[in-house]
Amino acid sequence: VSEKSAVIISVGTELTEGIIRDSHGAFLSSELTRRNVSVRRIEQLPDDENLLSQFSRAVADADLLIITGGLGPTTDDITREVCASLFGTALELREDVWEMMIKRYPALSGRANRRQAMIPGACEALDNPFGTAPGFTGVLGTTRVFALPGPPKELTGMSNLYLFPFLEKELKLSAREVTEASLFLIGESRLEDACRALADSNPVYASMSWGTRVQEYRISLYLRGSSEEVRLSFLQALQKRFGAELVQPGDVTADSLLSAALLETGASFAAAESCTGGLLGVLLTAVPGSSAYFLGSCASYADSFKEKFLHVPREIINRYGAVSEECARAMAEGVLAAGEADWACSITGIAGPSGGTDEKPVGTVWIGLAGKGMKSLGIRFLFGYNRDSIRRRSVVAAMVLTEKYLRGLDALDMCRFWQYS
Ligand code: ATP
Repeated sequence: VSEKSAVIISVGTELTEGIIRDSHGAFLSSELTRRNVSVRRIEQLPDDENLLSQFSRAVADADLLIITGGLGPTTDDITREVCASLFGTALELREDVWEMMIKRYPALSGRANRRQAMIPGACEALDNPFGTAPGFTGVLGTTRVFALPGPPKELTGMSNLYLFPFLEKELKLSAREVTEASLFLIGESRLEDACRALADSNPVYASMSWGTRVQEYRISLYLRGSSEEVRLSFLQALQKRFGAELVQPGDVTADSLLSAALLETGASFAAAESCTGGLLGVLLTAVPGSSAYFLGSCASYADSFKEKFLHVPREIINRYGAVSEECARAMAEGVLAAGEADWACSITGIAGPSGGTDEKPVGTVWIGLAGKGMKSLGIRFLFGYNRDSIRRRSVVAAMVLTEKYLRGLDALDMCRFWQYS
């Protein structure tokens, strides 16, 4: 069977004027690719008179055209009119669609929304249980066209309800199974090199493919094809290479791992942050329900502040500097005591671009760990790139280590073997 091809077109002046960012292209293309559909291109087009020629071009080029957006009730939403021209038919009011709409949303009756129940004559209406605008689908020559609404929840809902089942039932294109993992502190090119080397090392990986998505605080890795056993053995090899703590199965974040551990153990946690200025607190408080375990984070940037609020002895700062094992430990111990927390961590480092020395170059970060009745710990890192990335890596490392530390694992020993950068 030859591979099916697709073109995805997101319609909306908001997209081409830079007001919103297209998320449908990425979602649809990854779902189509999973089903062995080859995506020729992803376009973003304004709602204007050029749409018709662009739609026609896509129909000529692909077996599948997926159009998103522009199905709303206002006059600037023209996708349905343009599709009627594309199919060479008039728009027809579908009474059944209209009845369904006002049954769901009685306030709509008699309003401009009636337009939304108009579908190109040659097409089948797709009822939209996720919102008002119905979608529609039809066939032009050998090309199947889907028009789906633009609001993200509606687009994903309608895709799951109609588009993907169509691919599976009609085209017999089922999703290849995927194993997802979340990787921390590891650079994209380094990960790519590792995957490539691994794939080349063993023919069993030949029928498996990988893809990555770089996110702010992690990289998501998707392993596709072959069997689950093979995908898991690939993942285990990566864990061995980079450290199991840095290669977590599933779609997880460092803050969700730490939050889960705190919630599970019923323990409380506080942090003291110097070069990250409260970033760790921002991430932890983004998790709903975090007040159950997170007491707070002291953004203790200046030395005087560390001294006053965390009771870091001036002598430590004078003797070892604020970026030192001693200071990191004193900060963690200080916030543990002041906050009466069960566990605490601290972050102190040189995020740059200035302030580095030969002994303590930019990127030097000490993470301190303290726990009630425990000996505190300081761990040194050297993170790369720039200020932003050093700060992000610092909070991720602090959260990963705290999670291990409070579970009683030897955090220090573990991260000696980390391969990050
Ligand atoms: P309705 O008008 O009923 O909401 P519609 O099909 O006309 O549906 P649009 O008006 O095109 O949808 O988009 C509605 C909203 O959905 C946009 O304001 C935007 O917030 C979001 N949206 C639309 N297209 C995209 C896209 N490609 N990526 C991300 N968000 C989008």
